Amino acid sequence: MIHKERIEILQEVQTPAQEGKYVLYWMQKAQRTHYNHALEYAIEQANKLNLPLIVYFGLYEQFPYASSRHFQFMLQGLQDVAENLAKRNIKMIIKRTFPPYGAIELAKDASMIVVDKGYLKFEKDWKEILSHQLSCPIHQIETDAVIPVNTASSKEEYAAYTLRKKLLKMLDIFLTPLISRNPNFNSFEITNLEQYNDIDIYTKSASEILEELDIHREVQPVTDIKGGENQALEQLSGFLNQGKGLELYIQKKNDPSVQATSKLSPYLHFGQISPLFIALEVLKFTQDYNHEFLEQLIVRRELSLNLIEKNINYLTLSPLPQWSIKTLNEHRNDPRNNFYTLEEIEAANTHDKYFNAAQKELMSRGTIHNYIRMYWGKKIIEWSQTPEEAHNTLCHLNDKYALDGRDPNGYANILWCFGKHDRPFQERQIFGKVRYMGVNALKRNGKPDQYVATWV
Ligand SMILES: Cc1cc2nc3c(=O)[nH]c(=O)nc-3n(C[C@H](O)[C@H](O)[C@H](O)COP(=O)(O)OP(=O)(O)OC[C@H]3O[C@@H](n4cnc5c(N)ncnc54)[C@H](O)[C@@H]3O)c2cc1C
Repeated sequence: MIHKERIEILQEVQTPAQEGKYVLYWMQKAQRTHYNHALEYAIEQANKLNLPLIVYFGLYEQFPYASSRHFQFMLQGLQDVAENLAKRNIKMIIKRTFPPYGAIELAKDASMIVVDKGYLKFEKDWKEILSHQLSCPIHQIETDAVIPVNTASSKEEYAAYTLRKKLLKMLDIFLTPLISRNPNFNSFEITNLEQYNDIDIYTKSASEILEELDIHREVQPVTDIKGGENQALEQLSGFLNQGKGLELYIQKKNDPSVQATSKLSPYLHFGQISPLFIALEVLKFTQDYNHEFLEQLIVRRELSLNLIEKNINYLTLSPLPQWSIKTLNEHRNDPRNNFYTLEEIEAANTHDKYFNAAQKELMSRGTIHNYIRMYWGKKIIEWSQTPEEAHNTLCHLNDKYALDGRDPNGYANILWCFGKHDRPFQERQIFGKVRYMGVNALKRNGKPDQYVATWV
């Protein structure tokens, strides 16, 4: 079922839709065929209009922090998408271009366009370019939140506790399975479509395509983490392990030396797995909506989406609550016992072995365990000359190296390190009343020295 709250009409036309050869789904955020409300909606519309459906993706090599690491993961995912669409007789076109321009070009022959909702500013800007240039109907579908963000709340939420109660009330409505549809027409039969395709996604491997692209090579692919919706579904079922994974999660999720978390965040970031599907799978093993895993997947993740949707300044410190802005300013000139440059931090060249291990994990695997990631963020605040400098360093390193970076979760959690969505604590140097994290917190929750041993 596709709830009406997931559908936003970005542009409607009063006169009948232009004569077109197809319905166009511009897939950008939700890079999957499984549990994708935008895809299912597009199929429904195409069938209603008696037209075939084509799916377009814009590959943008100038994207900030576009590197071999992120593109390899994404291309592996697009390969799954193309193959899985082909099984449903839906043709995929991938263009190497500024994504809205590719959509505008293909829209010449489209009766309507379906897009998937993204929350970041650039994703909204891209849709606006489309609306300004085209006169056909454009419908936007939200498929990357369990509860549509503007339905969950009409304002920027203060903290998890203010959003949680709203989400919990609506979960029964939105935790609804999505039925897969089939198009009535085969879009591989449309002539002259191949002229638009820049990438041979059906026959070349992700590494071969990567070679052809004009992207940064400094951040190398992670060889043992494969992207794509097929892999994401395997990862989910491996994590759940017939429900045993959820028990381990409760006991060990904060211990970085244990593999107890789902490691689904890169797949969620690229839209290669549906958060709704994950939640429904989890609920096969627990009836508890407050389960710690659902707390992270739904409450914490959708709190991040809420912030990014409602506060356009998410790339600065201005979304911080007044108490944290005040306290950080009061401690702005506190002496720093240790100060490290960006280069030293990036090279994991500090006196702190726990931090160095986290930074090495980030650089080589594109991930950091959540608990040590908080420590990593707090240390960068402690060792930077100003909160603003620390914020820039955190955003830069997270976006450059993390497979799940450039994501609402990244920007919201980096702000959390400075007090966003948190409460005041005992006042201390540099942090003021912002929560501090030291080695003792790591030791209380797990075996950080075992984690360090993996990354020396
Ligand atoms: C400084 C800092 C930077 C971060 N940057 C990112 C980022 O760029 N991208 C990103 O996805 N997450 C980020 N996080 C949040 C968190 O670290 C990751 O979501 C989590 O570690 C992913 O691992 P997992 O998939 O095994 O999570 P699990 O524990 O298995 O949780 C399942 C899912 O719930 C969501 N989730 C888990 N923890 C959080 C959280 N604290 N806030 C919001 N959602 C959460 C994620 O989507 C995650 O995949 C950051 C946290 C900090 C402290």
